[in-house]
Amino acid sequence: MIHVERKPADLGESGWSAILQPRAVGAALAQDIECDYLVVGAGFAGLSAARRLHQLEPQASVVIIEAEQVASGPAGRNSGFMIDLPHALASGSYAGEDSQDLRNIRMNRAAIAFAARAAQDFGFPGEAFDPCGKINAAACRIGSEHNTNYARHLDTLGEPFELLDARAMRAICGSDYYSGGLHTPGTAVLQPALYIRSLADALVEQSGCRLYENSALKQLSRKGERWLANTATGSVTANRVILAVNGLIESFGFYRQRLMHINLYASMTRELSGAEVDALGGVERWGFTPSDPIGSTVRRIDGSGGPRLVIRNRCTYEASLRLPPDRLQRIASDHQRTFYARFPMLKQVEMEYCWSGRLCLSRNDVWALAELEAGLFSACCQNGLGTTRGTIAGIVAAEMASESSATSLVPDYRPQPRPQRLYREPFMSLGARCVIRFKEWRAGKEL
Ligand SMILES: Cc1cc2nc3c(=O)[nH]c(=O)nc-3n(C[C@H](O)[C@H](O)[C@H](O)COP(=O)(O)OP(=O)(O)OC[C@H]3O[C@@H](n4cnc5c(N)ncnc54)[C@H](O)[C@@H]3O)c2cc1C
Repeated sequence: MIHVERKPADLGESGWSAILQPRAVGAALAQDIECDYLVVGAGFAGLSAARRLHQLEPQASVVIIEAEQVASGPAGRNSGFMIDLPHALASGSYAGEDSQDLRNIRMNRAAIAFAARAAQDFGFPGEAFDPCGKINAAACRIGSEHNTNYARHLDTLGEPFELLDARAMRAICGSDYYSGGLHTPGTAVLQPALYIRSLADALVEQSGCRLYENSALKQLSRKGERWLANTATGSVTANRVILAVNGLIESFGFYRQRLMHINLYASMTRELSGAEVDALGGVERWGFTPSDPIGSTVRRIDGSGGPRLVIRNRCTYEASLRLPPDRLQRIASDHQRTFYARFPMLKQVEMEYCWSGRLCLSRNDVWALAELEAGLFSACCQNGLGTTRGTIAGIVAAEMASESSATSLVPDYRPQPRPQRLYREPFMSLGARCVIRFKEWRAGKEL
C-alpha cells in the first residue's frame, strides 16, 4: 500500500491563470469508479499521457485526477518556452546521428510537434501555442560570448539562426539593455495556463477522458491484477496507472533522495496603458530567454490580458519542498529592480502578480520514467526543459503502459539509468545553495 505524504502548494497567484476568463472547474471525484487507465496529475506529462493513450486506444477509458485546479500548479506557472535546442552544445556531444544531443533535439521536436498537433486538432486559441521561435538575449560580454559560441555550433549542425545586434534588440523590445541576441526558429511559445486548460478541456469534451479536479491521490494499493487509487472522497480502480506528478513522486515513496527540488519565481506587470506601450516601443510580442541559464527570462505578451511584461529570475533549492511564506516578498522586489533596469521608461508600472513554482532535476539529467511495479508507471523529473520533456515523458509512459503496437512518436527515447543518489543532507542543500548563489552573482547584468 502506498500512502501519499504531503502536497505543498506554490506561493502567489500565477498571472497566466489570473488574466484568463474564469473557467468552469471540473468536479472532484465523489464516487467509486473504474477505468482502463488512470493518470495522476494534469500537467504537461499527465495530459500528454492521456492524449497519447486516447490516440493509441480510442476505445479505452481514461481517467485523470488532479490534486488542484487545472493549471494552478507548475504547468500553469512557467514562462511558456517549449524549447527544441539544448542550452549547451559542445562539439563532442553531437558527433554522429545517434549522439545524445541530436537525439535530444529530435525528441524535443517530436514533443513540440505533438503539442502543435493538439493545438490544431482541438482548435486552441493562437496565444496558447505560438511557434514563433525565441531569442537568447545577451546583456553583457559573457552572454554575447555564449551566443557567438552557440552560433558556431549551430552552424556546424546546419541549424538555422540569426544573430541580432543591440539595435535590432532595441527595435524588438524597446530597451537599450541588451547588447545582442540569437534567434532560433524551432521553439514554440505558450500561454502556459491557456495551453494546459485548453488541452484538459479538449480531452474531456472531444476525447471522452474523465477529469476530476481538487482530487489528490492519497493512497494507492493493489487490487488483484488492478490498482485501487483513493482520494479523500472517492476511488478509481484501474488496470494501469501513470503517476505524472513530477517531483512529488517522492511523496509517494519513489525516487527518495534522488530528486532535486528547485523553485523558480516570476512576476507579471499590470496591463500597460496605450501611452505606456508607446513609451516602451518595440513589437507587440516577443520572448527572450537568457544566454546565461541563471539569468532573466522576459516576455512581452499581448493576448487576452492586454499588453503586459513578464519576468522570471531567481531560483532556490528546497529539499523539504516548503517555502518560507515571506520568500515571495523578497523575490518580488528583486523582480521589480531587474524590470526597471531593463525598462526605465516604465518606472511607474508595478507588478500585478508574483508567484513561485517547482521544478525537478536529477543529478545525471535523466527522467524518473519507468514501470515502477506491474501496471504502475512514472513520468516524472523533467529537468530543465519541463514543458518539452514533460510532454515527452507523458508520451513515452503512455506508450509503455499501452499494449498497442503502434510506432512510437519518440523513437529516439532510450531507457535511462535511475536518477543518481543525492549527497547527504545538510551537504546537498548547502552545496546546491552555494552553487546557485555563485552562478547568480556571476550572471551579473544577465540576471
Ligand atoms: C516560474 C517557472 C518558469 C518555468 N519556465 C519554463 C519554461 O519556460 N520552459 C520549460 O520547459 N519549463 C519551464 N518551467 C518548468 C515547467 O513548468 C515544469 O518542468 C513542468 O510544469 C513539469 O511538468 P509536469 O507535468 O511533469 O509536472 P507539473 O506541471 O508539476 O504537473 C504535475 C501535476 O500533478 C499534480 N499532483 C501532484 N500530486 C498529486 C496527487 N497526489 N494527486 C493528484 N495530482 C497530483 C500537481 O498538482 C500538478 O498539477 C518553469 C517553471 C517555473 C516554476
